[in-house]
Amino acid sequence: KLYNQVQEAKGNIRVFCRCRPLSKEEVSTGYQTVVDFSAAKDGDLAVIASGSTKKIFKFDRVYTPKDDQGITPSEESPPKLFDVFADASAMVTSVLDGYNVCIFAFGQTGTGKTFTMEGTEQNRGVNYRTLHQLFKVAEERKETVTYDISVSVLEVYNEQIRDLLATSTTTKRLDIKQVSDGVHHVPGIVEAKVEGIKQVWDVLQVGSNSRAVGSNNVNERSSRSHCMLCTMVRAKNLVNGECTTSKLWLVDLAGSERLAKTEVQGERLKEAQNINRSLSALGDVISCLANKSSHIPFRNSKLTHLLQDSLGGDSKTLMFVQISPSDHDIGETLSSLNFATRVR
Ligand code: ADP
Ligand code: MG
Repeated sequence: KLYNQVQEAKGNIRVFCRCRPLSKEEVSTGYQTVVDFSAAKDGDLAVIASGSTKKIFKFDRVYTPKDDQGITPSEESPPKLFDVFADASAMVTSVLDGYNVCIFAFGQTGTGKTFTMEGTEQNRGVNYRTLHQLFKVAEERKETVTYDISVSVLEVYNEQIRDLLATSTTTKRLDIKQVSDGVHHVPGIVEAKVEGIKQVWDVLQVGSNSRAVGSNNVNERSSRSHCMLCTMVRAKNLVNGECTTSKLWLVDLAGSERLAKTEVQGERLKEAQNINRSLSALGDVISCLANKSSHIPFRNSKLTHLLQDSLGGDSKTLMFVQISPSDHDIGETLSSLNFATRVR
């Protein structure tokens, strides 16, 4: 209990900044790096805004383009202190202890949100690593606690929730209901029971396949929708009989970029407004929580409404703010960094 109080006083929101490397194309076009990582170890990031004016942003941690995904941590090679995933994996223990956890990636399209969350088969991201860790720790505790673990995969697009594990082709209208105090649920959503990381991977495959259905460009679609993976953990302590239910949300947010005015018409305008609305709602909620406001506007968007149980209270939040190092993206980079400052 004392530990919780200490945590609470410190705040349960951590904000990490991660900058991707300049791409080959950017280098050959002649784009320059405008981000200075000399104080990255202290969590400081400097951006050369215009001319030689430097703007400093402070984070709980800064990951430079050199901090790669590394190898998947194991017994033989535990995560290094500054490993991009060390902190994310550490939060897993909280989930198994009954706390709700939310980890998400925010930023302009092309800055590495999906790279951080999903990664690749060679370079696993947060999703794989946290779930891998979850099953590992659950296994270690099996003498004293039984865990019932299931996953749901959803997409929020234009303020509509889509169940990516639903098998029926008819699109059900899904909504959020409060089932009891502090417990929100999406009635009718598929919860796939999983017993190991391999099975989670298969489920995620189903999810990403159905995400592709009905969109002619998956990347384009994914940059305008929030992809949300929810892991539900039901624990029963075999020693004292205590039962807890907790959730781990892993969220790859829609791209935070503002579209050029000329581009924004019709359907695109609606999309842009909805993305804007949900991301600013998220910013509002986190900053209200950080300021200990009495009213937290969770209901202003589907995104924040879904995450309601896992933001604030004694739940733990980790946000990766993803940025590009290029001078070409400076406007969006500053806007993402300002967003992060507001929530910190
Ligand atoms: P987003 O999901 O934000 O649109 P992606 O994750 O698709 O961005 O990343 C865009 C491109 O940049 C991809 O080709 C990805 O492999 C690459 N990339 C992103 N972050 C890194 C990184 N830290 N190191 C190396 N390549 C990266
Ligand atoms: Mg992406």
